[in-house]
Amino acid sequence: MNNTANHYAGGQERAALLREDETWQAAARARPDARAIGLWRGQVLVVGDDAAPQAARLALRPEWDETLVFLGVEADAPLFAVDLSAHEAAPNYGAGAYYELRGIGARLPGQDAGWCATARGLFNWWASHKFCPACGAGLRRVRAGWVLQCASCDREHFPRTDSAVIMLVVKGERVLLGQAHKFPPERNMYSTLAGFVEPGESLEDAVRREVAEEVGVRVGKVHYRSSQPWPFPASLMLGFVAQAESEEITLEETEMRDAKWFTRADLEAHAALGFSLPPKDSIARRLIDEWLTSA
Ligand SMILES: [Zn+2]
Repeated sequence: MNNTANHYAGGQERAALLREDETWQAAARARPDARAIGLWRGQVLVVGDDAAPQAARLALRPEWDETLVFLGVEADAPLFAVDLSAHEAAPNYGAGAYYELRGIGARLPGQDAGWCATARGLFNWWASHKFCPACGAGLRRVRAGWVLQCASCDREHFPRTDSAVIMLVVKGERVLLGQAHKFPPERNMYSTLAGFVEPGESLEDAVRREVAEEVGVRVGKVHYRSSQPWPFPASLMLGFVAQAESEEITLEETEMRDAKWFTRADLEAHAALGFSLPPKDSIARRLIDEWLTSA
């Protein structure tokens, strides 16, 4: 198994124990070398030219205090992210321009993609968790932004991550890829199947259930490969290879536009054959590429 991290899993120094140290946090915010990555409504502030874009590292401003989250340590300096979504227009502080993370992500350096994925996931969570699920009172941000605590019942709420399985279905020398209705039709993209894990379900059973539901194929053995944070808005993709025990495809037509079995030669000639594969920063593509090079 290849142990290289997937894109968005940059292996950053999160320094998680320092989140609880309020003295250290206050001092870190006052340091002249402290920096913040800026996000506005899911978009990230990016600098650098087209060939080498990077997330901007902004000097901290006092008015950001309530909207900072501590990301970790970078080159011995504290690194934060600031949620600028409350601004009507995205402020760029004289540096760069905003891009949707999902669009620019593949071109950012691995470390930046990881920091941005973390920030995007946390800010999504802040935006969608304004009130205590237990009593309905307001929540306040504690532990450097990583915990939301109820102002009334004191209950603590933690960032939510939705587990999703994503699987390359293999039978002999062919793999099954599908095209969901949510993919833009003009891209004619075929990708691995995927779906969310349900309560009370193992990952292996989720793989078998999703494949059966979407294409009617029976899966036997399931092998884990690697995982990828996918904060669009809050998923963790868990990647598998699934061995098919049947071949006939029965398409679930409300979700899927098409599904087919492909040979290695088909996939290698995808451009000439008029279809596309998932983007290079996705675990879907990695599962496909690992299979292509495993022969
Ligand atoms: Zn409460």
